[in-house]
Amino acid sequence: MAGRPYILAETNWKAVSGTAFDVAVLPWGATEAHNWHLPYATDVIQCDAVAAEAARRAWERGARVAVLPTVPFGVQTGQLDIPFCLNLNPTTQLAVLRDLVESLAGQGVRRLAILNGHGGNDFRAIIRELQPRVDSFLCAINWWNCVDPRPFFAQPGDHAGELETSVMMHVAPDLVLPLDEAGPGRERKARIAGLREGWAWAPRRWTAVTDDTGVGDPSAATPEKGAAFLDAVADRISGFLVELAAANLDDLYADAPA
Ligand SMILES: [Zn+2]
Repeated sequence: MAGRPYILAETNWKAVSGTAFDVAVLPWGATEAHNWHLPYATDVIQCDAVAAEAARRAWERGARVAVLPTVPFGVQTGQLDIPFCLNLNPTTQLAVLRDLVESLAGQGVRRLAILNGHGGNDFRAIIRELQPRVDSFLCAINWWNCVDPRPFFAQPGDHAGELETSVMMHVAPDLVLPLDEAGPGRERKARIAGLREGWAWAPRRWTAVTDDTGVGDPSAATPEKGAAFLDAVADRISGFLVELAAANLDDLYADAPA
């Protein structure tokens, strides 16, 4: 039985050699604790699910999209004291990304979209550095905020909260512990006003901020909320992939209407 043609890990050379792919999607997750109740691979599982569903819809609309295997490690510099939070530094991510982009460019795939699934990963600085050195077009999407989550959730939360718990209850229910075993995801706010208000920024020291590694209350999560949000996210990202596949990379900007 043939796998899905837009999931590289499932397809084969017979299918690939006969397809002119327009876009590669690189999901990039993390391996880290997610409150008491969600698995360490939460960011990987979510990225896999979002990428697959967005690519399926884009493929059905004619875009030739290939989802690459998800990178399972992310930036964990604020969580180094939590067992098995496995850190990849931003400079390592840059090196990994450059090798992959150069592989793809030599094979004629010159559009790459990173689908980021972890708040500690920030691909903007990395793409700013890498873009002028390669011929490919690079871009990044944070899947959890490409659609406003507020209409879907009472309190989306930041990490292992209502949003992530709902999505996991939808895509991997067998890996989610009963919600009465989850911690409250209570967050200690910064004492310094600028950091607390968000106009100054410093990475958070996770174990000082939260007792259960969660930030955000998961108690109102449901699989139905997760399904509805994932549907909206996949719809938006598939539209982006269709546009990216068809775009003229030498003519990306339009004059404002008169
Ligand atoms: Zn997460």
